[in-house]
Amino acid sequence: MKLFRFNGGRIGVTLDSRSLDLTDALGVDTTAWPPVQMVQLIADFERRMDGIARHAKVREIDLTAVRLDVPIEWPNKLLAYPVNYVKHGEEMKSSNRADRNGFFLKANSSLSGPREDIVLPDLPGREIHHECELGIVIGRQGKHITRENALDHVFGYACLIDMVVRGTEERVMRKSYDTFCPFGPWITTADEVADPANLQARLWVNDELKQDANTRDLIVDIPEMIVTASRVATLYPGDIIATGTPEGVGPVVRGDRIRIAIEQVGEMSIDVR
Ligand code: MN
Repeated sequence: MKLFRFNGGRIGVTLDSRSLDLTDALGVDTTAWPPVQMVQLIADFERRMDGIARHAKVREIDLTAVRLDVPIEWPNKLLAYPVNYVKHGEEMKSSNRADRNGFFLKANSSLSGPREDIVLPDLPGREIHHECELGIVIGRQGKHITRENALDHVFGYACLIDMVVRGTEERVMRKSYDTFCPFGPWITTADEVADPANLQARLWVNDELKQDANTRDLIVDIPEMIVTASRVATLYPGDIIATGTPEGVGPVVRGDRIRIAIEQVGEMSIDVR
């Protein structure tokens, strides 16, 4: 199924090709702050979703007629792996590799939705790059997760664009501007992804294909990302892990349109301003 947020924090699901508004059936308060309603749903998903499609307060909606919001707005953390494809390391002339460098953090507040623009900061002379990545959503809390159990902790997947200002400041700062992490357009639950180690991910700028790679070429694969992260920090439902980008990164400028598509997961287009 596909789980999404829309029209200012309402929660919906696409199930058997029908899209349903679950907000009232789940008792979701869209005005509550902090906006953790999706995280709470993921944490208690099976119980709260049991029989939901037959709930009297469920309404069918037209997914093309709503404004989609970022599916997770307020995770406990947003982790990302640097240089996790060999060819990206080569293009950056970087000796960093994810299997040696581990993960970094990106500010949760950089997350933005599939209908929001990327807003470039005013940094004359600086390059701001797109990075096409798969976002992994954690479904079950865990610490010291083993490789054989790792995928059991995955709730689902989404498209993720890791925007970054190139330069020498701390990486967390260069990647943490507001709107620097478009994420969505929905979360595709793990059961709908046949093999997360064989997903083609593509990114276009103004309809020109810039990045085109498969998750089979990740240096640190998805189970190992979960093992490595959970050795350090407890992973919580709703946490997001960005896989790292393949080769083909490059600058964007105001007026560009970025499209990201990951097979079996989703697709979204974002304007840059
Ligand atoms: Mn990245």
